[in-house]
Amino acid sequence: MSHLRPQFWQLPLTTLTDDEWEALCDGCGVCCLVKFLDDDNPKYTEYTDVACKLLDCTTGRCADYTNRKTFVPDCISLTYQMLEGLMWLPSHCAYKRRYLNLPLPKWHYLIAGEKIHAKGLKQIGVAGRCYSETLFDDEEIEERIIKWVKI
Ligand code: SF4
Ligand code: SF4
Repeated sequence: MSHLRPQFWQLPLTTLTDDEWEALCDGCGVCCLVKFLDDDNPKYTEYTDVACKLLDCTTGRCADYTNRKTFVPDCISLTYQMLEGLMWLPSHCAYKRRYLNLPLPKWHYLIAGEKIHAKGLKQIGVAGRCYSETLFDDEEIEERIIKWVKI
């Protein structure tokens, strides 16, 4: 990642290169959970512990990120312009935080390194505590609201 500028995460989001933009993601997997959006107030978004069919629920990572659109055409490719409408993202999400002019979480790997990042992810990530959407029908998903995602 030598082509990333020093402390690029403090720069305005609109000035980041594609690689810098991608590098912001902490890999929490929360945005891959099925959720019920509240059109009036993103704070009232209800997350479930049901994950996109392409998420590896053990690692919390997309199983085929490069080709994901082939399998999940509506997977969001985050851009700066979209962020205003994505305030349902979790409060630790680097994109949301930088959009709101907040610093990255202290445990983020860009600041704290991989070891501390892994500890942070255990607290907020989906790895090991979500289930594939292929296991449930719509009614069952509605019963799987969780409270551990902070918006
Ligand atoms: S919620 Fe944000 S930081 Fe977490 S995986 Fe999604 S985009 Fe990355
Ligand atoms: S396709 Fe991959 S990145 Fe997109 S929502 Fe599903 S698991 Fe997440």
